[in-house]
Formats: sequence, structure tokens, C-alpha cells
Amino acid sequence: PSKDWVDMNVLIHKVLDICNYEQRVNNIHIVTNLDADLPEIKADYFQMQQVLLNIIINAEYFITKAHGEGTIVISSSRFGDNIRISIKDDGPGMSENVLNRIFDPFFTTKEVGKGTGLGLSIGHGIITQHGGKLYAESSEGKGATFFIELPINPPAQ
Ligand code: ADP
Ligand code: MG
Repeated sequence: PSKDWVDMNVLIHKVLDICNYEQRVNNIHIVTNLDADLPEIKADYFQMQQVLLNIIINAEYFITKAHGEGTIVISSSRFGDNIRISIKDDGPGMSENVLNRIFDPFFTTKEVGKGTGLGLSIGHGIITQHGGKLYAESSEGKGATFFIELPINPPAQ
């Protein structure tokens, strides 16, 4: 993986373009709240795209399955030497039991054949390799929020 300067706001818009059709047919409303002064980060572009896509597709899947309609709010902000991206959905959320296992390889609650259970485990590895953190907050019935924190200048490897 090669690291380049990446504008995560631009990448968020690109990922939303990729999922646009799915979101329209599934009545998923997207709200973005992006920091216009977000600094670029040193990151692997395609890995970041993969992480964002998986989180957004998961949110869409669980919203659609539970309610047939919902909202995903995507925010970006800077704090100190890091940036933070949050992806919040108003889907079914997760029990504490599920929340504790979402980063385990092959853990999935999707219907048979619909999920490999690898997306978040791979995503966690990617963000950790970039010197950042990927974590989630959720309570059952109240949706889920995923947070990606990344250093603007990652530690040298
Ligand atoms: P997969 O998408 O193949 O199920 P992931 O690693 O991407 O694998 O996700 C693992 C599990 O995390 C999901 O099956 C689900 O139980 C939980 N999960 C992830 N995102 C959400 C979400 N937005 N709302 C509810 N549960 C979620
Ligand atoms: Mg997934």
C-alpha cells in the first residue's frame, strides 16, 4: 500500500457517489457535515475508500432491513494532530454482545450469504496500520455510530 496526501472530504463524496443508486432505491437519506478546513492526511487512498464503503454499506443494509428508510449522517472534523470522521445511522443499532464482536474476523449478523464478517476486521487493521483508531458506539434500537480517527502525519514505519 502506498501513502499519499488524501483529502478525506473528497473521498467521502466519492464513496457517496459510488453508493448513490443503492441509497436512492432504498430511501436512505445522507446528511454531510464536513469541516471545510479539514487537513489532508497521509494515507492509502484505496484502503481508506474500502473502510468507508464498508461502514456506509453496513449502515445502509441494517437501516433497510429494519425500517426500509433512514438517515446516515457523515461528519468530519479536526482535533489537534488528528482528524475524526463519524458515520451515524438511525438503524436498529446493536446489543452490547454484538458490539463487542464486530471487529472479530468472520463475525456477521447478516443473513446467510449476505456478509463475510470481514469488512470491519479488515477495516480495523487498516486504520490501526495508519496509526489511527476505528471504534463504534451503539445501543439497541438507537442506531450506531462509527468513528475513524487518523493522525494527519502518521508515525514513520
Ligand atoms: P458483514 O458486513 O459481512 O456482516 P462487517 O465486518 O462489515 O461484516 O460487520 C460485522 C457486523 O457488525 C455486522 O454483521 C453487524 O452485526 C455489525 N454491524 C456493522 N455495522 C452495523 C450497523 N451500522 N448497524 C448495526 N450493526 C452493524
Ligand atoms: Mg460489512
